[in-house]
Amino acid sequence: MDLSTSQRTDMCGTLTAADVGRTVTVCGWVDKRREHGEHLAFIDLRDRTGVVQCVVNISHDLRSEYVASMTGSVRLRPDDTANRDLATGEIEIEVSEIEILAQAEPPPFPLDERTDVDETIRLRHRYVDLRKERMQRNLRTRAAVNSALRRGMEEQGFVEVETPMLIASTPEGARDFVVPSRKEPGSFYALPQSPQLFKQLCMIGGIDRYYQIARCLRDEDLRADRQFEFMQLDAEMSFVGQEDVFAVISHAVAEATEAVTGERPTEFPRITWLDAMERYGSDKPDVRFGMELVELTPIFEGTEARVFQAPCVKGIRMEGGVEALSRNQIDGLVETCQRWGAKGLAWMKVVAGDDGPSLDAGVAKFLSADESAQVIAALEAEPGDMVFLVADERPLVRHVLGLLRLELGKPPVNEGGLHFLWVVDFPLFEGIGDGGKPIPAHHPFTMPHADDVHLLDEGGEALLDVRSQAYDLVLNGWELGSGSIRIHRTDVQSRIFELLGIGQEEAQSKFGFLLDALRFGAPPHGGFAFGTDRLTALLVGETNIREVIAFPKTQSGADPLTNAPSPIDATHLDDLGLRVLPPST
Ligand code: ASP
Repeated sequence: MDLSTSQRTDMCGTLTAADVGRTVTVCGWVDKRREHGEHLAFIDLRDRTGVVQCVVNISHDLRSEYVASMTGSVRLRPDDTANRDLATGEIEIEVSEIEILAQAEPPPFPLDERTDVDETIRLRHRYVDLRKERMQRNLRTRAAVNSALRRGMEEQGFVEVETPMLIASTPEGARDFVVPSRKEPGSFYALPQSPQLFKQLCMIGGIDRYYQIARCLRDEDLRADRQFEFMQLDAEMSFVGQEDVFAVISHAVAEATEAVTGERPTEFPRITWLDAMERYGSDKPDVRFGMELVELTPIFEGTEARVFQAPCVKGIRMEGGVEALSRNQIDGLVETCQRWGAKGLAWMKVVAGDDGPSLDAGVAKFLSADESAQVIAALEAEPGDMVFLVADERPLVRHVLGLLRLELGKPPVNEGGLHFLWVVDFPLFEGIGDGGKPIPAHHPFTMPHADDVHLLDEGGEALLDVRSQAYDLVLNGWELGSGSIRIHRTDVQSRIFELLGIGQEEAQSKFGFLLDALRFGAPPHGGFAFGTDRLTALLVGETNIREVIAFPKTQSGADPLTNAPSPIDATHLDDLGLRVLPPST
């Protein structure tokens, strides 16, 4: 692509031996400077495409990060000085004219990739940080992901519709960010946790296939894969079942992946939520590696060993664990599992015996010969392996072993390929909260599984067995996004609100507009949304989404660049009818 302008003829990083003899003008930042005697200097000039070596033998005052324009002729570097690692390494510019376009203070940190710079300092000077090759690459990849997603959705007939930022609350399970109204002091807009309700209204409005790369805001604790504001590819479609949704989203994700990696993922396997929990102890399993949780409960029915007298016993096998783990590390794992809530972690070594492998050390002595043999067989354990067992209530066993599996086996972010996975048949409710009300696992507009609707009338614990038509897309252990088939009938929606303890009045005041709309002819519809920050991060091999966001917040939610959040002045507060209370102690 030709990026020349009225001020430059070429980009720094694209000049090659084919340009030898040409007179060019390049513009950029002084990357590195090497002096050779009084008047000769080698200056690497950098722009977004890379660096080019400029040979300067006229007097100049160029310093690190100065912005300059250099004109000169391109020549081959002497043979022994060519740099094969650099795209422009064969050539240099013999500079005849320099113009300093802007001076610069010394950069607050070195711009190489090797120096580890404190994040707050990086973010305070993000405009300098963005000059790094890594950030340039990440932001360009992000743009490529977005544009491939747009193309992928549009070629499937999706229409981009923008939905408002100043709205009433949309429940996605997080706290709302709110904006005070000046016209109506004491009243607040909520910023969207997602465009959920609007996209459903689009379906009722006959849009048929909606999408948007939408900014969502959720006031919740930040983590490596979570920011207050983040972007989602948000989609909704009419007259569909979940297979239709899987097909269109898989297509868009495949487009984006191919655009970045050059390889198109062809497999988007399915796993039920229950299977994921039983086999991986997680609803976002990282299936790049095995080490699955193995059911051992039947083996210990009627066991004499007190530690295994529990409703559920499961185990995992670490291949070669005997070599790989020191006694100290094993003790550390036991403590970690206790921190995760387990009473203990039973570990044993698999050793070779005359009659085949047997269990040794740890709790091995508490097991009967038959139990040992069955554990070895169930885990398919070989001499040299370590086995780890947890016995407790089933949810706790899954949770602890799921985490232990990751601790012992999780590959680094950029290894093991990209493994997409649809997790289906999520439960409708994730638990029973205070006051006996069920807590929705997705949002309250999710359609229950047709076969389980009758359980809604039973109430109580039976509600936890109600499956929903909700699904997640998982990539390498990260939840990329969620979706569901929606309730499109007022009576079912009212029933769900009732179960959730959202009374008629509250439902009317919060979601009356949706309930009203459902009465005016709602097509069956469903959709999905997934985080484009997360997808981009995984595609470029970053472990923190902040690395693929131009201006992110720190872990504590602050922006060291603009100093947000910051107090507003008294007049502004007055206009909004607000008073700030002194901080509670
Ligand atoms: N609104 C949901 C979310 O943001 C996605 C969906 O159900 O389509 O998680």
